[in-house]
Amino acid sequence: MSAIAQKIRFFRRRIPSFECIPGCHDCCGPVTTSSFEIAELPVKTEAQHEAALAELSCPYLAEKGCEVYDDRPIICRLFGTTPRLLCPHGKRPEEMIDAELDMEIQEFFLSTRQVLL
Ligand code: SF4
Ligand code: SF4
Repeated sequence: MSAIAQKIRFFRRRIPSFECIPGCHDCCGPVTTSSFEIAELPVKTEAQHEAALAELSCPYLAEKGCEVYDDRPIICRLFGTTPRLLCPHGKRPEEMIDAELDMEIQEFFLSTRQVLL
């Protein structure tokens, strides 16, 4: 496994999880992710990307929610766990993300090519 893949796995494991409002996906929208993470997701056509963007949505958001939930990017997991990305409904983990880890993730984002989902 490459060093980047290991780093992504490390971040994913350490981001705290929490329970969302069932059926809610209000924080899904046009988000960017590293080219490494998008390479793991099923390819969407240009038309699917454009249709999602026109609705300010995400091409992986289906009627029943995120269709790539288990492989969703770091940014999707981060939402609601950091003061920078608070859930509009007040949902959060018992303990927010460790500040140092949050900073490491920001540095990772800045050091990798980011692609619109
Ligand atoms: S974090 Fe908040 S806005 Fe996002 S899905 Fe969960 S409950 Fe909904
Ligand atoms: S990948 Fe999934 S969780 Fe992330 S924005 Fe798209 S639909 Fe939402």
